[in-house]
This record gives sequence, structure tokens and C-alpha cells, in this order.
Amino acid sequence: MDYLTMTIGKQKNIALIAHDSKKHEIIDWCEEHKEILKHHFLCGTGTTARMITEATGLPVKGYNSGPLGGDQQIGAKIVEGRVDFVIFFSDPLTAQPHDPDVKALLRIAQVYDIPIANNKATADFMITSKYMDEEYEHNIINFHQNIAERARTL
Ligand code: PGA
Repeated sequence: MDYLTMTIGKQKNIALIAHDSKKHEIIDWCEEHKEILKHHFLCGTGTTARMITEATGLPVKGYNSGPLGGDQQIGAKIVEGRVDFVIFFSDPLTAQPHDPDVKALLRIAQVYDIPIANNKATADFMITSKYMDEEYEHNIINFHQNIAERARTL
């Protein structure tokens, strides 16, 4: 498999998502790390984004609500290289109507080698990483080459 070297910039494009039982946890987490977060570009699913902005004053661009396609919008931004860091406080104890979308987001983050936290401890480790203040180079599948190869061989 051929890989492309991509750069996650010093200023990250961070997506923030929390399931309903975790909304207050992500707000507290954003408040705790506000000084770091304010140096990056923030976006999130609709309700999470609005609640974070109202509680902390941080500007968070809101997409649709998660159950209405917000997770898919964020997944698409990962594919386009416009989201490169995800904090996703998911609820492991409650069935979600949009579970397939959640799985799709986790999968596409894995494909594009995007750092993604699904709980507070991981988020704490990520946000205090030395890479928050540096560019980070990583290898992702060469999607152009992948298409050329598939079209040639299938
Ligand atoms: P919300 O979506 O921020 O609009 O509540 C989050 C989710 O449930 O995926």
C-alpha cells in the first residue's frame, strides 16, 4: 500500500462531540483546557457546539445535531482534511439511534490516522501532548493511488 505524508498543523481543527449524558463532562473539560483550546479552530455537532459556546465563550462552529447527520458531516471533514483532531465523549451505556453514524466516524478517523479521544482520560493525555504545540506528520493511505490502482486492476 502506498502512503502520503500529511501534516496536522500547529493550529488544529478540533471537533467536539458529546452524547447527552456526557454534555456536562465535555463542557467542564473545555473549561479546564480553555487556554489551550482557544488557540485552535473548534467545531462540533450542533447541540454540543452550542452548549460549549454558551458555557465557556469559546467559538465552536456547529454542524447538524448528531442524530441528524452531524457525525457524518464531521467524518466528511476528516476525509477532506479539514478536521484533524476529535474529542468524542460517547456514552457506552445508552443505545444511540445514530449508532451506525458513530461507528462510521470512528472508522474514518482510524483510516485517516486522526487522534480521537472517546473518554476524558484519553482527551487529557491528547490535549497535554507536546504535539499540541507543534506540527505533526503522519502517513495516510494514498487515496489517489488507491483509485488508480483499483481502476487498473478490477
Ligand atoms: P449533539 O449530537 O451535539 O447535537 O447532541 C451529538 C451526538 O449525539 O452525536
